[in-house]
Amino acid sequence: MPNSPTLVSFATVKSSPFLLDVGDLLTHPGDNRPVSFTAPIEAAVDNAAVIGPIDVDGRLEGLTDGVYLKAVVEAPARLTCNRCLTDWEEDLQLEVRQLFARQPDEDGYAVDEHWIDTEGPIHDEVMLALPLVPLCRDDCQGICATCGADLNTSPCQGHADDERSPFEALKDLLPD
Ligand SMILES: [Zn+2]
Ligand SMILES: [Zn+2]
Repeated sequence: MPNSPTLVSFATVKSSPFLLDVGDLLTHPGDNRPVSFTAPIEAAVDNAAVIGPIDVDGRLEGLTDGVYLKAVVEAPARLTCNRCLTDWEEDLQLEVRQLFARQPDEDGYAVDEHWIDTEGPIHDEVMLALPLVPLCRDDCQGICATCGADLNTSPCQGHADDERSPFEALKDLLPD
């Protein structure tokens, strides 16, 4: 006769690298151990997106009222400069600190049986780490609004007609 199927089924139904078995820590408050996994995640804002699996590396600590996760997350991202529209890839680094409580507050995270699902708090932190206004460099010159030239690499010579109104240009075309 196999063991009670209920303990197995939770992990099977909700199979995810973010789902961690913390049964050992719940029975040993005060203990802590390393935790490390790689997981896919979907996170994007206008000019920044995570483009591959994230690496989570940290520690889990058993508390009398739950489990505490403290981890560093590395997320490969593609960013687009807000001024010149250049794309580049960069590993974003962020920290996650989260309590999973046996009896959580309304907006807290819970220990479910002997599992914690770390996806919510990690996803939140990854979203916060995505820059809203990425710049390829602080003094990026952007692109010329008139001709579209990248002013970092090919400074445009300026536009003689910038100051003239389109009506003046029209006048030239009309007979006197
Ligand atoms: Zn730029
Ligand atoms: Zn120009």
